[in-house]
Amino acid sequence: MRIELVTIGDELLLGYTIDTNGAFIARTLAADGVQVVRRTSCGDGADEIADAVRGALERTGAVITTGGLGPTADDLTKPSIAALFGRAMRKDDAILEALRERWKARGWPGGLPKANEQQAWIPEGATVLENRHGSAPGIWLENERGQWVAMLPGVPREMRGMLTDHLVPRLRVQGAAAVVRSATLRTTGISESMLADQLGALGKGFDGLSLAFLPGWEGVDLRLTARGRGAEDTDRALRDGVSRLREVAAIHAYGEGDADLAGVVIDLARTRGARIAVAESCTGGLLGARLTAGAGSSDVFLGGVLAYHNDVKTVELGVRAHTLETVGAVSEETAQEMARGVASKLGADIGIAITGIAGPGGGTAEKPVGTVCWAVSHGDAVVSRRAQLIGDRTEIRQRATQAALDLVRRTLAT
Ligand code: AMP
Ligand code: MG
Repeated sequence: MRIELVTIGDELLLGYTIDTNGAFIARTLAADGVQVVRRTSCGDGADEIADAVRGALERTGAVITTGGLGPTADDLTKPSIAALFGRAMRKDDAILEALRERWKARGWPGGLPKANEQQAWIPEGATVLENRHGSAPGIWLENERGQWVAMLPGVPREMRGMLTDHLVPRLRVQGAAAVVRSATLRTTGISESMLADQLGALGKGFDGLSLAFLPGWEGVDLRLTARGRGAEDTDRALRDGVSRLREVAAIHAYGEGDADLAGVVIDLARTRGARIAVAESCTGGLLGARLTAGAGSSDVFLGGVLAYHNDVKTVELGVRAHTLETVGAVSEETAQEMARGVASKLGADIGIAITGIAGPGGGTAEKPVGTVCWAVSHGDAVVSRRAQLIGDRTEIRQRATQAALDLVRRTLAT
């Protein structure tokens, strides 16, 4: 089944709001065999909306819109599409009553604002899609030829709820013949091209599965997509495909779906009965924040030291003044001493340390911006790395954190 999306709002055209609704709807419906074949964004004007929806209807006869259902003067989606279908607008008393109740329940003084009353107006012959997540109801409008437009609110949380409540069940039936499913294998510590070499022929897709390489600061995600008949077969093909990729990606693969490397490290450490402490210079707490993002990390994560000033490195972590004088604060030696120092200070089995130059200033010829060193101590052993990381300040800090976590993962995995 093929449909089009029209996302409505001046803020989308001005670039202040990114069209996450379009992405979410396309992704969600693909799983049920409903293919979004075109996405259009248009402004809030009645003519712009009518033009965009008319074109989409002519091509597919099946259109979802988001936005423009609010209570203000710029919310023109309903009357504009009603006119396109040659329908008048009528006031729906049930909706009006529900709006009044909702308003009363929220305890605002003065009753339902006049402006909200326009949300009770719907096109003649339309089906109301109840909104359990906000005030603006959605609308399903269909003509004699079976062409339809489903109008959803723009607020992403409400849109997502209504997609699940109403459209997924309606469209699943029609799209059931063909399903599209995706799965992601997450890798890190290997470049996109090296990974492509390692995958060889599999990199072009295999067994009817298509493969996409998605690089980012976390690493390279491998996304496999299966198109098939019937959910069960398609899911099985996808699972087999992910297993094959995992075998070849070997140690570079750390998880599937939206797995986070920090969560993987916490789980690994917990299994090994090891407790973690961190010493951070250029990442200023990012490492600690990521390790504590998941609930229940306190049985593994003990704490850390943010060691920016050299005095903190020497006094709190026991980094030797001689090390700082001879090889400098950004060096593998310093990182190693920080890792050992914080582990012994806090009584941890594993110490993780990061030191580097995140920029934009502070670089030198020998240590340009992006030079980062990290180290992991585990019992008596300590390993460290030095790399030239790319990106702006934010990205360098993110990449440094990810690289340090990956060194822990690899250390614990062996
Ligand atoms: P509306 O239903 O047009 O009143 O939209 C309400 C809010 O939803 C706006 O302030 C936007 O920030 C947000 N929004 C509208 N359309 C989109 C979209 N396509 N993607 C993400 N957010 C959106
Ligand atoms: Mg709007």
